[in-house]
Amino acid sequence: MATKYIFVTGGVVSSLGKGIFASSLGLLLKSRGLKVSMMKLDPYLNIDPGTMSPYQHGEVFVTADGAETDLDLGHYERWIDTNLSKECSLTSGKIYMSVMEKERRGDYLGACIQVIPHVTDEIKSKIRDAAKAAKPDVLICEIGGTVGDIESLPFLEAIREMRLEEGFDSTFYVHNTLVPYLRAAEETKTKPTQHSVKELLQLGIQPDAIVLRTEVPLSEGQLSKISLFCNVPSKGVFTALDEKVVYDLPLHLHEQGLDDYVTERLKLEAKEADLTRWSKWVDSFKERKGTLKIALVGKYVELKDAYLSVKSALVHAGAEVGKHIEILWIKSSTITPENVSTILKDAQGILVPGGFGERGSEGKKLAICYARENKIPFLGICFGMQLALIEFAQNVLHWQDADSAEFDPQCGRPVIDLLRGQYDGIELGGTMRLGNYPCLLKDGSLAKKLYQKEEIEERHRHRYEFNSRFKKDFEDAGMVFSGINPDSQLVEICELPTHPFFIASQFHPEFTSRPLKPNPLFYGFISAALKKSKGE
Ligand code: GLN
Repeated sequence: MATKYIFVTGGVVSSLGKGIFASSLGLLLKSRGLKVSMMKLDPYLNIDPGTMSPYQHGEVFVTADGAETDLDLGHYERWIDTNLSKECSLTSGKIYMSVMEKERRGDYLGACIQVIPHVTDEIKSKIRDAAKAAKPDVLICEIGGTVGDIESLPFLEAIREMRLEEGFDSTFYVHNTLVPYLRAAEETKTKPTQHSVKELLQLGIQPDAIVLRTEVPLSEGQLSKISLFCNVPSKGVFTALDEKVVYDLPLHLHEQGLDDYVTERLKLEAKEADLTRWSKWVDSFKERKGTLKIALVGKYVELKDAYLSVKSALVHAGAEVGKHIEILWIKSSTITPENVSTILKDAQGILVPGGFGERGSEGKKLAICYARENKIPFLGICFGMQLALIEFAQNVLHWQDADSAEFDPQCGRPVIDLLRGQYDGIELGGTMRLGNYPCLLKDGSLAKKLYQKEEIEERHRHRYEFNSRFKKDFEDAGMVFSGINPDSQLVEICELPTHPFFIASQFHPEFTSRPLKPNPLFYGFISAALKKSKGE
């Protein structure tokens, strides 16, 4: 069966939850036995978000094949429980880059290069590449930004043309809008939705479905008004009510007939939706009792989106043990030797996530030292592992000249270092060690007990590594290197067997955690925090 395309757009405001809607639709279609893939089209001009500050963009999500992508890809992977590939993340930057390369090569045979048709053709061909790569029954493409933005116009023109080229039965447009509730008037307002749909119509796109984000339930009257004015059959108008538990959204959309409507309209042969596992999990999620307090010590904690996958992975592991997770967001630069024990006194687990640069690293090391000495469960991720090893070198091996070459290339003992030759003269964007690498787990280690496997693959995003020339000294002092890359011999996991739970990985375990399948390192960490909370 040729791939069918569903295009998800948004209007009225940003942050509507379009990504969560798109993921819910993906989940529903998958539950009907269809093969689903998802794609994000971002209007910004960066090639990818890899070089953007977390303050600008939130987390950079990394795919198994090493693409640095928008955090929405993380939602997609978690909700449809499918690994996506680099083709699933497209930006205007990537489009223009490839158009410019073709122009320089002379591929356009003397033509004058224009937004239409050259840029729009490139967009369509990249969307089709994503379909070719995964060969799904349905490819859901979310267009970033809000209808009416200048930046997203070429994307909207491209998806308009896709209808003409792929046919009515193979293309579906869903438009997400906001229906604001005016408290003073005690009324919800449909006018912004009408305007937003008009905007789309001017671009030649008639939505097949409308999804209305709202704080309060909408009346039948309002829904039929929207149906009439927006020219969408009433069975194509859906509400996405603010959910207490976001995981309820797919179930509520299913009750409103979303997947029936989409499969009929696209003439997809699909079985009945089987949402048993998901709804059971949502029920158990709602029954969680008690809370575990986990300190997340990071540089960008004011912006929770910077740690979106870490936050999700903690929630997944918490759900598995029936507990809510309260994250204590701790800004690493505020930690001093004097206040560290006060700041961390309530933490039942301490997590130091990935990061870059020296600022705040002293505070992170103080938190790691506190976890190590006070036997508090500790999980270090990427930069968190590097700092755990520097902390160990400085405080256990008493190497005062130990540091990371990232902030002190001239230090006496660069226990964290660049692989020589690997990065000489290389550009900043897209050149880190990215994506999946294999890792062999040591017999008898905590890592092996948690993963219950000989060999694992996890995702990476870093430039620096533990310098293996110091391995023996660390091992003699009690550090165990329990995960090693079989090809390069690089250290992937370290742990302290004398501690109830002290483990750190060079890879990012948060990217592979899924609601119904928490990542083993997170699961182990949360289970250890639970033990600690019971005083065991
Ligand atoms: N800054 C470190 C490096 O580049 C760690 C990166 C990270 O935590 N993602 O190696």
